[in-house]
Amino acid sequence: RGGAAEPVIPFTQPGNLTRVYAVTSGKGGVGKSSVTANLAAAMASQGLSVAVVDADIYGFSIPRMLGVSQVPTQLDGMIVPVTAHGVKVISIGMFVEERQPVVWRGPMLHRAVQQFLTDVYWGDLDVLLLDLPPGTGDVTISVAQLLPNAEILVVTTPQTAAAEVAERTGLIAAQTHQRVVGVVENMSYMPQPDGSRLEIFGSGGGQIVSTSLSETLGYEVPLLAQLPLDIRLREGSDTGVPATSANNGRPLADSPAALELAA
Ligand code: ADP
Repeated sequence: RGGAAEPVIPFTQPGNLTRVYAVTSGKGGVGKSSVTANLAAAMASQGLSVAVVDADIYGFSIPRMLGVSQVPTQLDGMIVPVTAHGVKVISIGMFVEERQPVVWRGPMLHRAVQQFLTDVYWGDLDVLLLDLPPGTGDVTISVAQLLPNAEILVVTTPQTAAAEVAERTGLIAAQTHQRVVGVVENMSYMPQPDGSRLEIFGSGGGQIVSTSLSETLGYEVPLLAQLPLDIRLREGSDTGVPATSANNGRPLADSPAALELAA
């Protein structure tokens, strides 16, 4: 393009050992950010060096979920991320006035994500998680360009309609040549006092996405977990203490499938 050299993204450099996971979903409200925050807190409490880039620029919710209210400081022209529950975090929510919407066009979104990757002092990380916006918009494409090595984790609910849109999101990976590591089905069921499972949002969505992505992509895209509806998860998101962090990174006692991902 003849302009100045593009800034260097540490996570794409040869020899960089950070595993990068971009968490995506077809639509909003399925628990993508909750999965990202809880996964990060669980990994951190297991001793991994973890960071979260909140790439859901318009709909940021990571600061609230991880209980971050501080503004990042600066050091030698670099932004120092805020650490919460052992997780290094950066989000546009730390830089905008409270309750102000972010109204940006594509190029600015791209620049913001790029800055989060290049101008933040991340240090050595084992894992970098990106909370992508739902769907297949500008930021999803920016992340594919900036971090071609990012692996994709798809979050869906059991609902068939949700599964179809989640599938489309996963298929973008075929075009961007990113690997889809697996599917997390969230809000799978509500555990009942008698031990049975109430399937509020139906069933099968996670399996549908897993099967269809495996067929289209030509490799196994496993259904990694089916997470129950759990009031502690919702409360944790609202109070800024991830349920996995409150539970030392271990799965919540009566939801054995929950959050074993980190293991
Ligand atoms: P998304 O990132 O997909 O828009 P969120 O992670 O913000 O979705 O979740 C939407 C809402 O649902 C939040 O209030 C969150 O606390 C809640 N939530 C998500 N997963 C669960 C769950 N398994 N059990 C209970 N509440 C949940």
